[in-house]
Amino acid sequence: MSLAIIDDDFMVCTDCLMIIANDDASGLDYSLGEEEAEVREHEILEAIAEIQREEGQIAVGDSGKDDEFSSSPCACCGTRLAGARHHCVLLGDSRER
Ligand SMILES: [Zn+2]
Repeated sequence: MSLAIIDDDFMVCTDCLMIIANDDASGLDYSLGEEEAEVREHEILEAIAEIQREEGQIAVGDSGKDDEFSSSPCACCGTRLAGARHHCVLLGDSRER
């Protein structure tokens, strides 16, 4: 099976990027209380797991394509909170296209 980019415009929020890139949600604690951070981390991990099950692997893309400020919903967790969106790509089985 060969992996190919199936979505080259997968823009995620900073929280999601942190977890996708570093598998690290500790940064959430800075902006949220401990309990809230746990809920948020869980929400993001669920979203990532679902995308990986249904669509493909999320990989960090080109930081040159980041959007410093956007009000579009995060492609991963769906937050509508305006802020930075980071470029990621979805990798999937190219044969399915
Ligand atoms: Zn997100």
